[in-house]
Amino acid sequence: MLNIILFGPPGAGKGTQSNLLIDKFNLVHLSTGDIFRYNIKNETELGKTANSYIENGNLVPDEVTIGMVKDFLERHPDANGFIFDGFPRTIAQGEALDKMLAEKDHSIDLMLALEVEDEELIKRLLERGKTSNRADDQSEETIQNRLNVYKKETAPLAEYYSEQDKYMGVHGVGTIEEIFERLCAAIKMKTSS
Ligand code: ADP
Repeated sequence: MLNIILFGPPGAGKGTQSNLLIDKFNLVHLSTGDIFRYNIKNETELGKTANSYIENGNLVPDEVTIGMVKDFLERHPDANGFIFDGFPRTIAQGEALDKMLAEKDHSIDLMLALEVEDEELIKRLLERGKTSNRADDQSEETIQNRLNVYKKETAPLAEYYSEQDKYMGVHGVGTIEEIFERLCAAIKMKTSS
């Protein structure tokens, strides 16, 4: 099994790179943002709960998110491994993920962090907002809130996985192919060591 957390702030390119990584390594893509958006679109109870947080750029409560991930993992018992995209986003989520995997005798192999400056992130998200219809990409105020939440709640996970010797930072600016090459090189380095 190969379990990778693709980490980084909103707009860092996690979704784009996840799609390339799942193809190359035959992994399952777990994007909590995608699952929330699917539920919002289909007006499920989960979608209604999540929407009130997401539209303001806040995190959906841990118990809701963790329960949803647990369900997802249980529905993919035969996976060759996962790319975790947008999860974990809090220390409590990281601890819950480690526990869920340990119960199946699995673990996270690597946290790959896409590093991009704030100014570039804001530019990318506003640009994506023009075509994505995502409510949370429309206003600079919501984007700024997401970046603040990231720094306060999510960034500490870098330290959490560094302590487990699993963290690798990757420069997240360049062409999609260049960044993909950097991610693949990091995976190769980690899995051959
Ligand atoms: P981005 O990385 O561009 O912010 P995502 O699609 O990963 O986009 O997430 C969109 C929104 O969904 C987040 O701003 C947050 O409100 C919610 N969300 C996604 N993943 C989580 C999570 N693990 N915990 C709490 N909320 C989440």
